[in-house]
Amino acid sequence: GQTTPFTVALITGAAQGIGREIALRLADDGFHVAINDIPSNADALHSVAKEVEAKGRKALAVLGDVSEEAAVKSMVEKTVEVLGRLDVMVANAAIAYISAIVDMDVEKFDRALAVNVRGAMLCYKYAARQMIKQGNGGRILGAASILGKRGGPAAAAYVAPKFAIRGLTQCLAIELKAHHITANTYAPGVILTPMTDMGALDEAKGGGHGAATKWVCGLPPDGPDAPPEVVASLVSYLVKSEAYFITGQSYNVDGGVDFS
Ligand code: NAD
Repeated sequence: GQTTPFTVALITGAAQGIGREIALRLADDGFHVAINDIPSNADALHSVAKEVEAKGRKALAVLGDVSEEAAVKSMVEKTVEVLGRLDVMVANAAIAYISAIVDMDVEKFDRALAVNVRGAMLCYKYAARQMIKQGNGGRILGAASILGKRGGPAAAAYVAPKFAIRGLTQCLAIELKAHHITANTYAPGVILTPMTDMGALDEAKGGGHGAATKWVCGLPPDGPDAPPEVVASLVSYLVKSEAYFITGQSYNVDGGVDFS
């Protein structure tokens, strides 16, 4: 079990939105933080690293695509090399592709599965190996969604991976139980981030930022939404030592739209 405090976290897709907020919150909680995003988001990722350092913690920015095994392996290795260990893995990165099944572009569908499912699996694989080696337990989190619990219009390429992540995470929780490593997912409702900022599509669905996402979730344009802090505070709790008895679960943070 855990004998020393958790001190190092790695968060993927952390240049913006929910991932950035989790990185900042865990820095506030005392963690040194490794953050990852794709090369096209390098500038934003480096400014998040500066924000973490301004809080008096160490930050490591690692560029790489989570769908590539070599990238994920080296991301974990660099974290351990620079920050000394890995206690918390947050597999947060994902892409959203909105299309009806009858119009599905198979390459985009495959890309969504590669980033959202293979990406999470690879993060789990290398983080779990490192945590098992350390023998001090650990915390692993994946990003599900309320769209990982039910379908929605034009949402198949997002819903399929989000259902998959919940299954994947339950398997991980079972496999890692004996190592005192917990594995859970957060399942946000509509959170105001760059992902849900769809401009013309939001307007077409009769609202501002979030309106198109609400439509995809079966919600009206004035349905509930919230800033990414609401997700970061759940993650902050789930990675604490005292949350050791919670594993294999998926927690909605959705303002009361899904009770399944
Ligand atoms: P976002 O698009 O604003 O941020 C996601 C980040 O992931 C981006 O910085 C992007 O560059 C990065 N990314 C994309 N592909 C990557 C790859 N292959 N490798 C590494 N990084 C990659 O999204 P967000 O709203 O902050 O969402 C974060 C997570 O929460 C996602 O898993 C998303 O599916 C989930 N989620 C979001 C909402 C919401 O309403 N915003 C709701 C439910 C679930």
